[in-house]
Amino acid sequence: MRIAIIGAGPSGLYCAIALARRGHDMLVDREPGPPPHGLWRRGGVMQLHHAHTFRGPVVGALRAEMPDVLDDLAMRRAGIVYDGDGRAIALLCRRATFDAVLRQRAERTAGVSIRTGYAAHTQAGLRIDGSSVAADLVIDATGRSGRLTGRTSRPGAVVDCGAVYVTRQYRLRGPGLPPTNSPIGLSLSLDGYVAIAFIHDDRTFSVTLIHDGSDPLLRQLRHEAVFEPVIAAIAQLGEWTAPGRSDPITPVLAGGRLYNGYRGQLDDAGRPVVPGVISVGDAVCTTTPLAGRGVTLALWQARELVRGIDGKDLSRIDIEDLAGNFDAWCRAAIKPWFVDQVHADRHRLRRWAGHDVDLSEPLPSDLIAASAEVDRRVGALIGPYLRMDAGPHVLAAAEPLARAVFATGWRPALPDGPSRDELAALCQSVSARTA
Ligand SMILES: Cc1cc2nc3c(=O)[nH]c(=O)nc-3n(C[C@H](O)[C@H](O)[C@H](O)COP(=O)(O)OP(=O)(O)OC[C@H]3O[C@@H](n4cnc5c(N)ncnc54)[C@H](O)[C@@H]3O)c2cc1C
Repeated sequence: MRIAIIGAGPSGLYCAIALARRGHDMLVDREPGPPPHGLWRRGGVMQLHHAHTFRGPVVGALRAEMPDVLDDLAMRRAGIVYDGDGRAIALLCRRATFDAVLRQRAERTAGVSIRTGYAAHTQAGLRIDGSSVAADLVIDATGRSGRLTGRTSRPGAVVDCGAVYVTRQYRLRGPGLPPTNSPIGLSLSLDGYVAIAFIHDDRTFSVTLIHDGSDPLLRQLRHEAVFEPVIAAIAQLGEWTAPGRSDPITPVLAGGRLYNGYRGQLDDAGRPVVPGVISVGDAVCTTTPLAGRGVTLALWQARELVRGIDGKDLSRIDIEDLAGNFDAWCRAAIKPWFVDQVHADRHRLRRWAGHDVDLSEPLPSDLIAASAEVDRRVGALIGPYLRMDAGPHVLAAAEPLARAVFATGWRPALPDGPSRDELAALCQSVSARTA
């Protein structure tokens, strides 16, 4: 059986390396790899230079299939954070470094041939910029904006995240870190928005503000002349970008609206939506990046798809069965994270709009986690969920404990820093000064 993979993001590259090591494949991406110098521009992956942190299971997925990639990442000075029990809980790395390392490893893997060109699915396989390529199975790893299958999402399966990113990356000048409140850096859940500084490879870091996208004044943050003084006004964050401490290495990058989405492989009659094509990664499920789960969910899927193919007599494999089994697995293992995130986002947006915690519904995961500060039993119950070692179902046992905490009137303390309205006013005054 001839397999072609479309998309050289984490999902496609992982599938390509793992399948090539089992004896087959070809990989296509519409964009070439990283340039020898300068910023890697990749229109299809707008998040390439936005803050990413990779959760522990990403390390697990790499270790299981391609430990040499972890060695390559270490050579690029990406760090792995371990908890007290020796479990990897995060990989500290720029997304561009992660993809460049995976891509380089794919290029060196016998069997992977990477072609550059825009791919479209045809009955016989693919058309790549006009030329036909025969393939029995096409793996659609085209990401959140992929159009390979031409599938429109079914109603109810796409929900606005209410999270818009604006990011700049920097490099620290010397050793030592500015203020952090977790091993991955600094994360401040302020009144109406989130401010973060995520540690990456080789002394680089990202500073990101995340807001709901509804205030046009906050859109001004995309201008460097506004972004820099606003970051400086958030005291702990400002220490990261203070003159002499670090230097910017990218322009300020503004992201667009983001969506939680889930797209299965099968139509309402249970048949593959596009016979011969199996989607994987963001082409199946996207979730709000605030929780940093995207690449974990993508690699879990890639690994499961490879397992479904592994060891089979490829000339006899039934692609419809493969798609059906993979779809069932995704519904059980991936979709609950989408549902969990949609619920958490709805409650977060209510609170960002000034409402109190809503106790009329099950509490969202972030509030359950916050209540562990008061009731330590919560932390013990949801630890596996926070590490992504267990799915959102484990929240059910902790929810009543968290609810009891919130019913007393306790609320998580807000860190020091401007509210969203104050931030917007600051954007306005800085814009007026610099206009
Ligand atoms: C702002 C932001 C921040 C994020 N932060 C995090 C984080 O902290 N942690 C985390 O784990 N996840 C994060 N994510 C999610 C993560 O980026 C995605 O889950 C990840 O990109 C999924 O990888 P993928 O390989 O499925 O798709 P992609 O990375 O989107 O790759 C798809 C590839 O397919 C190519 N392609 C598409 N169509 C075609 C075609 N027709 N022909 C040829 N090539 C094609 C594209 O050019 C692209 O290279 C974030 C996402 C966003 C938007």
